[in-house]
Amino acid sequence: MILKQINELQSYLETPRKIVIIGHRNPDGDAMGSTLALYHYFKKKGHQPTVVVPNEYPDFLHWLPGSDTTYRFDWQNSQSQRAIKESDIIFLLDFNALHRVGSDMQKTLEGYENDFALIDHHQQPDDFRYMYSDPEMCSTCQMVYHFIEKMGDVDLIDADISTCLYTGIMTDTGSFRFRSTTSLTHRVIADLIDKGAENDRIHGNVYDASSYGRLQLLGQALSNLKVIPEYKTAYITLSEDEKAINNFVKGDTEGVVNYALSVAGIVMAAIFIEDKEQNIIKISFRSKGSFSVNQFSRENFEGGGHDNAAGGKSNLSMEETIKKFIGLLPQNKEELVNSYEV
Ligand code: 5GP
Ligand code: MN
Repeated sequence: MILKQINELQSYLETPRKIVIIGHRNPDGDAMGSTLALYHYFKKKGHQPTVVVPNEYPDFLHWLPGSDTTYRFDWQNSQSQRAIKESDIIFLLDFNALHRVGSDMQKTLEGYENDFALIDHHQQPDDFRYMYSDPEMCSTCQMVYHFIEKMGDVDLIDADISTCLYTGIMTDTGSFRFRSTTSLTHRVIADLIDKGAENDRIHGNVYDASSYGRLQLLGQALSNLKVIPEYKTAYITLSEDEKAINNFVKGDTEGVVNYALSVAGIVMAAIFIEDKEQNIIKISFRSKGSFSVNQFSRENFEGGGHDNAAGGKSNLSMEETIKKFIGLLPQNKEELVNSYEV
């Protein structure tokens, strides 16, 4: 864990500030939950916070309290630029390096003259003036809870903050089932329910919000599933055509990689999704036990993330990407086959 200048940050925040809060590009439940929770908290403290979201995020997160106050950097560029320029400090949540916001926004942030404060659970974070980094944590949302605790303000956590934090903890832990879920996570969750998070409603809003197209796309993904038992590996592909036929919208493929991981005995799962707009194959990796997909993705697919959940990309065609992926398995065989399984 890295805690850098947090006391100094606390003193800095004793005066009302203009604060911009940013999560990563292609925001997920943890990025949206943590940025909006911090927004509500800072507002209660008398600051002027603004959440700037790099780009589109899934419909099943639009109900989050405060979602309608955010600026979209790609759509509302001048408002976003102005908020950033006028801010006293920028909070970076749920990512570890500036390139994770996308290249346009990265350039803006690189020209920023004031300080950054990072709250994040990804490995190997870049260095910023104020830092609270802990890769052992299941989610940035749990860290925002502890951050508010460190500020001595747990009593300020209300129903809106609780709802945002509950959502991100739920989505980043696969509904409290990944190994990163600790007894402390459950204590935090219990407190959030006491403070007004309606767990059944949140779960319904996020998981029972599938369109017909999303389920059809899932059907396609499952029929594309390939299993390579020798390497305890399973993978799924989705082409641009398959996405189009099923009326793909952002967020539709979230969580699909977990179906590959759910095959008995599988240690590494991957999903390869063709993205014609960016001209890449976007990849999500998941693993069980000691096999690190963070390392695997860093070394081979320009990505990273956590030991058991990482992302990456490939500039090759789908066919060549799969060939490359399969070609990498023999040299990883020992680690794959011996990965400790729970
Ligand atoms: P997902 O597969 O759900 O998109 O991402 C899994 C984890 O890996 C998340 O924590 C996410 O932030 C991280 N991740 C996803 N894509 C990338 C990437 O291209 N580079 C890096 N460094 N991390 C990524
Ligand atoms: Mn996260």
